[in-house]
Amino acid sequence: MEKYTGKSVLKGIAIGRIYWYQKQEYQVAQTKVQDTGAEKKRFAQAVETAQGQLSALYEEALVRAGEDHAMIFDIHKMMLEDDDYLDAVNHVLEEGFNAEYAVEMAQNQFAELFAAMDDEYMRARVADIKDISRRVIRILAGIPEDGILADEPVIVAADDLTPSETVKMDKNKILAFVTARGSSNSHTAILARSMNLPALVNTGLEAGESLNGKIGVVDGFHGEFLVEPEPELLDQMIHRKNQWVADLEALEQLKGKDNAASDGRRIDIFANIGKVEDAEAALEADAGGIGLFRSEFLYLGRDSFPTEEEQFSSYKAVLEKMGDKKVIIRTLDIGADKKVDYFCLEEEENPALGYRAIRICLDRPEIFITQLRAIFRASVYGRAAIMFPMIVSVNEIRRIKEIVGQVKKALSQEGYPIKEVELGIMIETPAAALISDRLAREVDFFSIGTNDLTQYTLAVDRQNQKLESTCDTHHPAILKLIQMTVENAHRAGIWAGICGELAADTDLTETFLSMGVDELSVSPSSVLKVRKAVRDL
Ligand code: PEP
Ligand code: MG
Repeated sequence: MEKYTGKSVLKGIAIGRIYWYQKQEYQVAQTKVQDTGAEKKRFAQAVETAQGQLSALYEEALVRAGEDHAMIFDIHKMMLEDDDYLDAVNHVLEEGFNAEYAVEMAQNQFAELFAAMDDEYMRARVADIKDISRRVIRILAGIPEDGILADEPVIVAADDLTPSETVKMDKNKILAFVTARGSSNSHTAILARSMNLPALVNTGLEAGESLNGKIGVVDGFHGEFLVEPEPELLDQMIHRKNQWVADLEALEQLKGKDNAASDGRRIDIFANIGKVEDAEAALEADAGGIGLFRSEFLYLGRDSFPTEEEQFSSYKAVLEKMGDKKVIIRTLDIGADKKVDYFCLEEEENPALGYRAIRICLDRPEIFITQLRAIFRASVYGRAAIMFPMIVSVNEIRRIKEIVGQVKKALSQEGYPIKEVELGIMIETPAAALISDRLAREVDFFSIGTNDLTQYTLAVDRQNQKLESTCDTHHPAILKLIQMTVENAHRAGIWAGICGELAADTDLTETFLSMGVDELSVSPSSVLKVRKAVRDL
């Protein structure tokens, strides 16, 4: 047996086969070839193979999802037959370069062309060009398809996972995550938590592909990952897993109950989500609403900006699903660890202190406006609220409100019905907490983002696994800033909640209640645990 220890992200136990997730990132080498004719033939064969794969995908999608969804594979086949595209590849081949490089050059040329077009539909085709080109490059280079190739749900082990990789994974195929690197406050960890999967990060795992197919046990209670445990230990772990499942079932009894302590103090418990499908888990956990919809996840794991229509249908789906429960949509928080190629952001020395979140939105209002239009259009389908991340000044809020006003006016003129929505901000910088008295006069609510507030207050990079053990999440400075924020909110007659990971820390539940925090927003898997903590007071 091999045993690894790491930082646990979710207390739970998973037992199953291990799947080593191989990164799909690859660099296309530029080489000169001797025989251009042979290279052209290699390219033609790769296109033929790609066409075959696309036909098979079309048939599969037709059966599973219907004609509308299958159509995209037909479009991809047509794009691969397009003379301009093939000419662009052949042109580079004729200069004596290898086929992988020629396809990449054609891809870049067409992606740039489409990205610069005024037409939204054509801009969205950038993703398709990249998709078909990558398919051909993968075939040429003999790289397997992206995704998890397993017949049964598996424990996904990896060196590290980015938020984009995690968001693309099919939850039904995963029992748990184990990574060699990473910190428990990273967005990858947050995603694992929101998927309600046991996960360990920073295990120092080195075995790589040799783990494939072996039996593994992820023990999120002790932060341990066991590979091929002896039968006796495996039996013990199966027993503990059953116990854990039984405890979870006991929590189910709390569904429908109020979040009230015996002395009558109560608090709202909402859920954090990152994807439309997570709304189901929030309802299933009996959350009072969605306290944080991390909308940037709609932008991750893809090759081009989500269109207004795409975003509209995502927000509408969540609002409809949640019915009369409030859904707080946080506008785009891209940057730092949430990287998206098509934003073409420059490399920065200190990305967490850099060009991210509301700073990008105010600097590139066309991106912000598309998102706000989608949210306001969807607002009539439920109880939407909007909040803005990474605020540091009153001035930012004034500029946001100006843009919001323009968006509402334009939509009304275009004949769209819209509803009034609450506008709030995240308090996740020490600056915002310190001037929360002034900020409170400008907005309808505060939501305290303790993940970033901790990072910026204690000068501890939330991504840095080395600092994790020394980072005191209960530091008096953090608690003081939370208290100050809540008091200033109440003085101005608005409410204040917490949506960072600290909200689920049941050692602080009593403290938060005493401070008068109005709402805690936690991952769906923590809703009932926090309700129990409140009711046990
Ligand atoms: C936070 O910073 O606490 C927060 C909720 O936002 P995110 O974790 O997405 O940065
Ligand atoms: Mg944050």
